[in-house]
Formats: sequence, structure tokens, C-alpha cells
Amino acid sequence: MRQILHWFLYAVVFVMIFTAGCSDSRSSEQISAEAAPDLKAHSAEFKKEVIKVTDGVWVAVGFGLANSILLEGNDGVVIVDTMESAEAAAPVKAAFDKITSKPVKAIIYTHYHTDHIFGARVMAGEDRPEVICQARTLYCLNRIATITRETTYRRAMRQFGTMLPPGGVINDGIGPRLEYDQSKTIALLLPTRTFAAERMELDVAGLKLVLVHAPGETPDQIFIWLPRKKVLLPADNYYNSFPNLYAIRGTAYRDVMGWVNSLDKMRALKAEYLVPSHTRPLDGAERIYETLTNYRDAIQFVHDQTIRLMNRGLTPQQIVERVRLPAHLAGLPYLQEYYGTVEWSVRAVFDGYLGWFGGNASDLFPLPLRQRAMRFARMVGGETALLEKARQAVAGGDYQWALELTDHLLQLDYEPDKVRTLRATALKALAEMQIASTARNYYLTRALEVTGELHIPMMNIKDKALIHQLTLEGIFRSMAVRLDPEKSAHVDTVAGFRFPDTGQAFTVHVRRGVAEIHPWFPDKPDLVVTVDSNIWKEIAAGVRNPALAIFKDLKKEGGTLSLIRFLRLFKST
Ligand SMILES: [Zn+2]
Repeated sequence: MRQILHWFLYAVVFVMIFTAGCSDSRSSEQISAEAAPDLKAHSAEFKKEVIKVTDGVWVAVGFGLANSILLEGNDGVVIVDTMESAEAAAPVKAAFDKITSKPVKAIIYTHYHTDHIFGARVMAGEDRPEVICQARTLYCLNRIATITRETTYRRAMRQFGTMLPPGGVINDGIGPRLEYDQSKTIALLLPTRTFAAERMELDVAGLKLVLVHAPGETPDQIFIWLPRKKVLLPADNYYNSFPNLYAIRGTAYRDVMGWVNSLDKMRALKAEYLVPSHTRPLDGAERIYETLTNYRDAIQFVHDQTIRLMNRGLTPQQIVERVRLPAHLAGLPYLQEYYGTVEWSVRAVFDGYLGWFGGNASDLFPLPLRQRAMRFARMVGGETALLEKARQAVAGGDYQWALELTDHLLQLDYEPDKVRTLRATALKALAEMQIASTARNYYLTRALEVTGELHIPMMNIKDKALIHQLTLEGIFRSMAVRLDPEKSAHVDTVAGFRFPDTGQAFTVHVRRGVAEIHPWFPDKPDLVVTVDSNIWKEIAAGVRNPALAIFKDLKKEGGTLSLIRFLRLFKST
């Protein structure tokens, strides 16, 4: 278990081996963008306060993307979910400390998403609580944070609008905004106790808690039931928005019917209080039952109708054009698309069952993008005419069409400055119409990126104590997915790494586009590097200058230049 967590930590910290760091060029100027009235009104959901739900149960809403929940027992408290960073957690901790000075006996993570776990050390304060989660939580952390981390981080920054200047983010659909980016502090506590069974009963500080594995928004999701108080904590399987059956930051398929089953288990409890990990709590057994019923019906509807049309041979786009929630669900306030959307959910369900190929033969081997763009331009009378069409589309408020036309123009590299300006105008206009915060944030961020006003830097963590916890295995495994296939096309070089402080050794054999990694020293290395493991980790994490380290801290056999040339093969671009 520790191994997996280490691998995860490594992946979070590992930035870009041997690449120059990018500077943060986040604009601090106000952005003036209109917003959909419904999305604006939804911000009331996130009024910052600690709400007393019932005796001994409080929830902090509006402090960060997620809520943190305080459960008070006889001689201690339990904290469920811990905010997304040390910075987001600090004011919540201060507010909870005003309610009670009883020690934190346990912290429970409802699932692995960063907005629920990265403030744990702050929430624990001076206490040494048990840290409890479902057994798969660590595996899930690992999966999201490893090889796809760079792209999912960048896309998450767009989805949450984290880098947008003031005025950009109205809210993030399930919280005011995500207080987590490369400038924030990860304060994760390692779990001390996990459970793999369907349920686990706990008695902490006189509180009876039932933890139930409830796959849905994530496969490791749990809900927590307090039978004596009839309080149900549904985690992220319910919040006041259409559920995020698919996240545009990029996510593996979410088990949609598993989500429905989990909601059914919750309905059966007849809870009197529902305290989700995002958005405000609800009370009243009938109201809660009805809400959960409608919520599960909306999910099942989208799932079943997608499958029904899929079985009739329709492609994802054709299905998207047909699936609409029935009126009695579509009008409900808690099924508005502030966070997830029906359209993206349809695509996700299709992809979850059948994969990327929609069934249309044209999609088997589509024309290369540039080819298509050239033919498009030729068809309308040339590049100038195509640009004119894009301009007309923007002027006429036909913004999606404008985006599609500028896709072609960018491929052709025709008048790129003009095209980018047009594109930014279309993106901003689309953003202003969205009720989905995620789409708004994505469009607005892309608008600033396309004109060069915003650059999303890679997440860079400077906490050396955290970096030193990384495993060498992780660092070397990740080198493989950074190998430049062109630079290494004719390379056949074996490098041996020795770490005298830990007694470990590694082989990195670059062989024409593939880096074979093994945790042992090679027989006949072309290059040998001997270095302290922590120094190597700091280089990999980007907190130590690799060029300096090569001359100062590394012992080399085989030539300095060859080593530099070798390491450059792994430079990401
Ligand atoms: Zn969440």
C-alpha cells in the first residue's frame, strides 16, 4: 500500500525531468465577461459558512471546491474530507476549532480526489488521527496521477478556471472555486486504515459510523451513515447539479450504473439529513428520498437511452442529438447542468461500452487535419474566403461554427494572429452563454491561451520532504514515457544508476525509441551515474538544477557530454 502511495506522490511531484521550468504568466487584470444568469444565481449555493446540520454535525461550505464535515463525539471529533490544499483548509480548521477544542480522532477521505484530501495535515492540527479510506483510494490516486498527470492537470486548470483572472470564474458548479494549483501546498496525510469490504462499522469518540463502499463519481467512493442521528454523508454521489458522469479534465469511464446502485443504497436508509461533500445540506426524510430518487433516475435515463440508441446503430453524435431528460427531471433545480452535462455523459457512456469508434466507416481512417483544412479552404474559394467566413460567423453570433472554421485556419497557419483573435472572441462568447461552469471556464481559459495572454505552468512542488518520499522506481518508470522517439531513433545506450545511500541500482536501456527500465545494475553499461537518491529525486522534481548537479553532485563514468546527451533524450517538449 505504501508503495502505491509513494508512486502517486512521486507522480504528483515529478515535473518535467530536465526541462526548463515555465514561468507563470497569469494575468492579474480583471476579465470582463458576461455570465449566464442561472450560473450567477447558483453562486448563492456557496455562501461561505459553517452550517450546523443537527446536534454534533457541522459542514463548512464555500471555503474551497469541496466541503469539510465535522462530526462531534464525546471525547473527540471526526473530520470527513479535508479540502484541497493547506491554504484552503486553514480557515476551515480555524472555524471548526471555534466550535470545539476536542481532539481529531479520525479523518475520513470519501474518495481520492484532491479536493477532499490535500488539506488533511492542516485539519489534523496537532492531533494524530486515524486516517481512513476505502482500499481502492490509493490505487485510484496512483492511476490519475501517473502517466496522464501532465495533461489532466492542464485540463483541470481549464475546467476549474483556476488560472483565470478575477471576473472569469463565476463559480465551479460544485464549489466557489478550486483553491489548488502549483502555488498551493499539498498537506496530505497517508491513510492509516483502509477497508476493502462492502462496509465497515466504526465507533469513534462514541460516534457510530457506517462506511459503505459506493462506486459512482469514483470507483473508491464511500458514503457514511450515522444511524443514531439519521445523517447521511453521500460524498460526491450527490450534489446540487447534474452529476459529472464525465469530467472534461479527462477521466476514465465512471461506472454510471454503479452510481445508480449506490444512490439506491442511500435511498433505502431514509436519512433525515443529507450532507454532501459539495453544495449545501438538505433535511427532511421525504425531500431527501425524492431528491435521491430523481437523481438516480436522471442518471439511469441517460445511461439507458444511450444504450438503446447505441443498439440501434447510432453514433455518439446522433445520440447526443436525441437524448433529452424528461421534463419532470429536466426542470429540477438540482439537475441543472452547472457541473456535468447530459451531452458529455452520453458520449462517456458510449465510449465506456464501445470505445472510441462510433461505428461510422468515415471515422476509421479520417483525413489528416491539414488535408481536411486544405480541401475545406479550396471548396470555399481559398484561405482568404475561409477567413472571411470565420469573420462572418463571429459577427453573426455563430460561435461554434466560427470555432470549427478557425480550427481549419489554424491548421493552414493562415493569418494566425487574425485567426487567433477571432477564435478568442468566439470562445469568450461561448463561455458567456454557458450554464455549465466547466464549459465556461474551459472556453475562457482557452480564449486567453490562444492569444498568448495566459500560459498554464506545470504543477511544481517545492516541498523537499515530500519529494524525498518518492520512490526511485517511480522516477525511472516515468522516464520511459518521456523518451523522445526521434532523438532516440538510432540510440542504443545502456545507463546504470547507483544510489549508494539506499543501496539501489537501476538500468535504463534506451533502444531505438524505447527505454527499458529495470531495478538492477546492468552488465555492460555505457554510462554509469552514482548519486545520492535524494539529489536525484530533487533533480527529477525540478527543484535542483540538473546542469549544476551533473558537474557537482553526480559521479559519472562514460563522459559528461554523453550523459547530458542521454538525459536530453527524456526531455519533454
Ligand atoms: Zn469532490
